[in-house]
Amino acid sequence: MIEIDGLQKSYGPLRVLDGISLRVPEGQVVCVIGPSGSGKSTLLRCVNGLEPYQGGSVRVDGQVVNREHRAAIRAVRQRVCMVFQRFNLFSHRTALQNVTEGPIYALGEPRAAAEARGRELLAQVGLAGREGSYPRQLSGGQQQRVAIARALAMRPRAVLFDEPTSALDPELVGEVLTVMRDLARGGMTMMVVTHEIGFARSVGDHVVFMDRGKVVEEGPPGEILTAPREPRTQDFLHRVL
Ligand code: ADP
Ligand code: MG
Repeated sequence: MIEIDGLQKSYGPLRVLDGISLRVPEGQVVCVIGPSGSGKSTLLRCVNGLEPYQGGSVRVDGQVVNREHRAAIRAVRQRVCMVFQRFNLFSHRTALQNVTEGPIYALGEPRAAAEARGRELLAQVGLAGREGSYPRQLSGGQQQRVAIARALAMRPRAVLFDEPTSALDPELVGEVLTVMRDLARGGMTMMVVTHEIGFARSVGDHVVFMDRGKVVEEGPPGEILTAPREPRTQDFLHRVL
């Protein structure tokens, strides 16, 4: 579903992604871990067409993600949705309006159909009954679940998560991870940047450890998270576990 080959990305003289190659097969969950500044967010942003890149290629569903082709980028954004650390909900819109905005205005779905589906999606993330709540009336965990419902409303082929629980109070992390776990069980293709090692171990099909713009080590969670071979992976896991 997602194919990244030799991806190179710099900000001016700073090389942020230095020849990244990885695959996210359909229906699989790939977790990306690594120290702050290693390029994880930039990688997701390149996959989603939010950032231009200088070398290598990113393909989604066989189609090259290339910033020069605006129509192609729009198509990719619809197929691959992103959930951010900060939920970025529209503060003056209700939960349901946040979820239906994309389908109505970007996909051209009839309002009634978008609303019916929006209610279903809010129920799926455990927010039945909160359709009329504004973001400020919701906890951080509830807001992030609205953000996930909003992403799903675009009928994506894959969802990218960028540290979706990092901004949450510890007691709210579990409810968001549960929603993500259910989504994975339902067969969604997911690329998840996270420091939640327990989640990566139990939900991830594949774990990628990045450092300084490179993939240092990757493999099944049982290998990478339990018996990493690379000293840099070992160091990192010692620090986060
Ligand atoms: P991570 O998500 O792993 O913490 P990022 O992808 O956010 O890492 O950042 C990787 C590197 O790129 C960092 O050194 C960061 O300072 C730099 N960087 C990120 N975004 C920009 C930007 N818009 N302009 C310049 N440098 C950036
Ligand atoms: Mg980041």
